[in-house]
Amino acid sequence: MFSKILIANRGEIAVRITKTCRRMGILTVAVYSDADADSLAVEMADEAVFIGPSPASQSYLRGEAILEAAKATGAQAIHPGFGFLSESAEFARACAGAGVVFIGPNPEAIEAMGDKIASKRSAVAAGVRVVPGQVGEIADAAHAVKIAEQIGYPVMIKASAGGGGKGIRVARGGSEVEEAVPAVRAEAKGAFGDDRLFIEKFIEHPRHIEIQVLGDQHGHVLHLFERECSIQRRNQKVIEEAPSPLIDPVTRKAMGEQAVALARAVKYDSAGTVEFVVGQDKSFYFLEMNTRLQVEHPVTELVTGLDLVEQMIRVAAGEPLGFNQGEVRIEGWAIESRIYAEDPYRGFLPSIGRLVRYQAPAEGARDGALVRNDTGVREGDEITMFYDPMIAKLSTWAPERAGAVRTMARALEDLDIQGVGHNAPFLSAVMDQARFKAGELSTSYIADEFPNGFEGLAPTPWQIDLMTAVAAFMHRLLAARAMGGRRSDVEARGEWVVVVGDETRRVRLTGSGERLEVTLLAEDRVVALEGVQWRPGLALFRGRLDGEEFTATVGFAVEGFRIRHRAATTRALILTPASAELHHRLPPKAPPDTSRQVICPMPGLVISMDVGEGDEIRAGQVVCVIEAMKMQNIIRAERDGVVKKIGAAAGDSVSADDVLAELA
Ligand code: ADP
Ligand code: ADP
Ligand code: MG
Repeated sequence: MFSKILIANRGEIAVRITKTCRRMGILTVAVYSDADADSLAVEMADEAVFIGPSPASQSYLRGEAILEAAKATGAQAIHPGFGFLSESAEFARACAGAGVVFIGPNPEAIEAMGDKIASKRSAVAAGVRVVPGQVGEIADAAHAVKIAEQIGYPVMIKASAGGGGKGIRVARGGSEVEEAVPAVRAEAKGAFGDDRLFIEKFIEHPRHIEIQVLGDQHGHVLHLFERECSIQRRNQKVIEEAPSPLIDPVTRKAMGEQAVALARAVKYDSAGTVEFVVGQDKSFYFLEMNTRLQVEHPVTELVTGLDLVEQMIRVAAGEPLGFNQGEVRIEGWAIESRIYAEDPYRGFLPSIGRLVRYQAPAEGARDGALVRNDTGVREGDEITMFYDPMIAKLSTWAPERAGAVRTMARALEDLDIQGVGHNAPFLSAVMDQARFKAGELSTSYIADEFPNGFEGLAPTPWQIDLMTAVAAFMHRLLAARAMGGRRSDVEARGEWVVVVGDETRRVRLTGSGERLEVTLLAEDRVVALEGVQWRPGLALFRGRLDGEEFTATVGFAVEGFRIRHRAATTRALILTPASAELHHRLPPKAPPDTSRQVICPMPGLVISMDVGEGDEIRAGQVVCVIEAMKMQNIIRAERDGVVKKIGAAAGDSVSADDVLAELA
C-alpha cells in the first residue's frame, strides 16, 4: 500500500479523498493555486505544494507541475479526483513514465472511453445498445442535416470531448441543425480544445440512469448498481439518488451486465460510470462512460457501505477486489443535493462572493436516517469565478426513499448560507413536490415543473401558520428586549394583527419563554410554537409547530420580517389592531418586477453585446459576454422575449445588478 498520495484537485473532492487517506493511514499532499492558498483542502493535507495562478490552465491542468510536486514530496501515487486531469490519458501515461501510480484506469481504457465518439464505437463492439445516431464525426452542417434526416428529428448535436453538460444542443429541424453545428463546434473548441462533433437521436423526456462499475488489475469487474440523476438543469445534474425509483431487479441486472461487458471490453481497472438514457418504458441506451470518480458517488457509498475512494486506491496499488458481485447489495435509499452558489430565482446564474456565513446541518444519525455533507469550504471562504461554484453535496440515507426525502427536506432547512446566492430553496421545492415524492422523474423535470423559471412555492396553510407564529415570536422577543425585560419574564398578552403575505389574521398571543400560543381569532383555532431556539442576530429559527420540528430562515425586511421555510418566502408584519386599520388604507407597495430584465450577476467588462434592440430572443440565448477576473462569462436570457432596451455595449464596465437588457 502507498504511504503518501498526492491529490491533484481542489475543493470538496480533494477534502473527500484526504479523509479516506487519513483513515487508511496514508499521508497526503495537496496542490493549490493562488485562489486556494488558504483552502480547507490545503489545511487538511499533511503537505501542500503551490502549482500556479488561479486559472485552471495555469495550475490544476498543468500535469508536469503536478508530477514535479509528487517527485519533490515523495508521493507514490496521484488521485486526480474529477474534472481537471482525471480523464487525461496523456497525464496517466506521464505518471507511469515518472514512476508514479495514477489512481484511475489504465490510459488505454481512458482513451477508449475518453471521447464520446470512441466510447460509442467501443460500446457497439461490446454489444451494448447505444442511442441511435451516427457513430462517427460529422463533417459540416450539410452533413449533419443529412444524418439528422435519416435518424429523424429531434436530434442532439454533441461535442465528442464534451463534459459537464457543455457542448450539447437539441435541434428540431434542419435550420436548427445548421444553427447548432457552428455553435457547438465553437463551444467545444473553446471549452475542450477539440471541435469534433457527432449527432444522435434526442430521446424525449428520458431519465438519466448510470451504473457504477469497479474493476481491478486482475481481470475482475463488477457493478455497484445504479444511480438516477434525472434532475438536471442545463444538462447538468443537481439531485441524484440510489437506487432509481424506476428500475426493477430485472432491468437492474440487464443494465449492470451491459455496463460490466463494456468495462471488461476495455480492461477497466478502477472505478468508473457507464451512463444511460432510459425511456419511461425502461428501454435503455448507452450515453457515455466517465472514466473517473463521479461527483455523485456518495449515494452509491451510502447504499452499498463501500468507500469508493478506498477501492480506487486499493486496486491502483494492485490489490484484487475483496468481494464479488454476489456479495454487494443495496441497503436503503440515498439522495444527494448539490448545493451551488447560484441564484435559482435568476435562471441558476452563478453567484460568486464571500461565504459570510456557512453552517451545514450536523452530520451523522438523525431519527433513524443519516446525514452526510461533503464540502470544501469553511465560513469566510470565497466562492470564486475560477472553478465550479459548488459549495457542498448534502446527502441523506434512510431505510426507505420517503425517509431519505424527508430527511433531505429537513437537512436543507438547517443550511445557513449568507453572502452568496444559493439553490437550497430550489432543492427544497423539489423535495416538497408530489411528483418528486412519487419518483416520477425525467431530465425535463425542471422545465416541466418550473416553466417560467423558479419563483419559489406558495406557502401551504401549515407554512402560513408557521410564519404567523414565527413572526409573532420574533416581535414579542424584540419588544421585550426593547423594554429591557428578561425573556422569561415576558408574557405575550393581548390582541395583534399579523400580516403574512396576502393574509391578514387577528390573533391573541399567550405563553412565555420558548413557548407561544397563537389563537387565530377568526377561526377560533390555536397554533402552538414550542422549543424555540432563536435570538436576534441568528438567521436560523428553530422550533416545533404543533409538535412538528422545523427550521426557518429569518431576517428583517423594510417593514417587519422576511421568513423563508423551505421554498416558501414571505414578508410578515405584526401590528396593533389600531395601526392595522391605518395599514390597510395604505396603497400596497409592489416590488419591482425584474423578471423581464437581464441583470449583470458580477462586476466586469462587456466583451460583446450579442443582441440588439428589437431582436426576438429565446430563453438560453446568449445576451452578452462579460469578462470578470480574466474569465469570460456568457450571460443568457432566462426567458423568451423581444429586446426592448440595451443597457451596455462592448467595452463598458458594468457592476453587479446593472440591467444589461430589458425584454418586452
Ligand atoms: P458527473 O457526471 O460526475 O456529475 P459532470 O459531467 O457534471 O460529472 O462533471 C464533473 C466535474 O468535472 C464538474 O466539476 C465539471 O465541471 C468537470 N468536468 C467534466 N467534464 C469536464 C471536461 N471535459 N473538462 C473539464 N472539466 C470537466
Ligand atoms: P456530459 O458529458 O456533459 O455529461 P452526456 O452525454 O452525459 O454529457 O449528456 C448530459 C445530459 O444530457 C444527460 O444526462 C441527458 O440528460 C442529456 N442527454 C444527452 N444525450 C441525450 C439524448 N440523446 N437524448 C436525450 N437526452 C440526452
Ligand atoms: Mg454525462
